[in-house]
Amino acid sequence: MLLQSTCDNGFYGEFGGRYVPEILVQALEALAQFYDKLMQDGQFEQELVECLTHYAGRATPLTEVPRFSEAIGGPRILLKREDLLHTGAHKLNNALGQCLLAKKMGKHKIIAETGAGQHGVATATACARLGLECEVFMGATDVKRQAPNVARMRLLGATVTEVHDGQKTLKEAVNAALRRWASCYHDTHYCLGSALGPDPFPRMVATFQSVIGVEARAQMLQQYSCLPSHCVACVGGGSNAIGLFSAFLEDEVALVGVEAGGKGAALGDNAARMQAGAPGVLHGSLSYVLQDAGGQIAPTHSISAGLDYPMIGPMHAFFAKNGRARYTQVGDETALAACKLLTQTEGILPALESSHALGFVMSQAKDFAKDDVVLINLSGRGDKDLDQLMRMEAQA
Ligand SMILES: *Cc1c(COP(=O)(O)O)cnc(C)c1O
Repeated sequence: MLLQSTCDNGFYGEFGGRYVPEILVQALEALAQFYDKLMQDGQFEQELVECLTHYAGRATPLTEVPRFSEAIGGPRILLKREDLLHTGAHKLNNALGQCLLAKKMGKHKIIAETGAGQHGVATATACARLGLECEVFMGATDVKRQAPNVARMRLLGATVTEVHDGQKTLKEAVNAALRRWASCYHDTHYCLGSALGPDPFPRMVATFQSVIGVEARAQMLQQYSCLPSHCVACVGGGSNAIGLFSAFLEDEVALVGVEAGGKGAALGDNAARMQAGAPGVLHGSLSYVLQDAGGQIAPTHSISAGLDYPMIGPMHAFFAKNGRARYTQVGDETALAACKLLTQTEGILPALESSHALGFVMSQAKDFAKDDVVLINLSGRGDKDLDQLMRMEAQA
């Protein structure tokens, strides 16, 4: 069910690594050793798969969307329905994997960071299920903007700790969580939310999300007797994309990652790291980062909170460089149009994040061959975005 993601001593080419203060090295080393041992133990994987099946609702279906394809004049399109996973997005795959690992490691407390609140909710959910204590760090600005998810986390029994540094958003929440972890890793696991951060986090998260690609590949063969010509996924930190891509790396399948083009090309107006960023270190890892000429992290913008992060995961930087995947961007307006179109033609309301992947296929429809079969990762459902959709509708 899972594909174990590999690296070269924590690196993907020149990207990745473990650029952390010395105080965290021991915590990361212990985590990496335990994780490596655990993955050789078939029983852990079996337990996780059981939890993913009977609790989270896997396998998620593969759904063809012919009316959407026809409306855009495009190729055949299939959606991997992570929107139907418990809590409404792919994030629970990783949260359950890491929380189960923490429990095996004898840690009874989990800390996590969250931006929009989706990873916080997934982690709080996994902790409630597995009987673990949970504390979620969240920027004060985000706490205000994402009130329903804050209420959900608290209802699930988690403590939400407001972070008042800097811009008071996700970047500062990660800093606060890393700082806290340095002082409590003896009894606490840091459950990081995407394929980011210092080794072993990127490969651990990629492994737990690989269930998406493994399932989708088997479903393609079973339902359609072929593999897709293209796999398309939106890229925030990069976990849903790497989860899908990982099962197709050895196949003749084009892999496309879609970043947030936001309002436009100016620094601060988007989260298009591969287009507008440069290599740099953030949160313990070397990858493409949006930064100003002095190397300071730049502000970002996207209509979707989940794509609004200044760094792309190191595996994607590596795939961009070696050409195995390509990275493009879709702006706010196109994503919004694709979101509405899928809802109206297929009765599926996608998350604004996932709508970027749909928006890519929609805007490039004419460039696909008629016999292409495009597999899009529908990373989450759009119910969480309803308030924002209504506000934008009122402004239009
Ligand atoms: C968080 C989120 C993303 C972006 O995160 P990745 O790690 O890049 O997958 C995408 N879609 C949804 C629905 C999300 O909640």
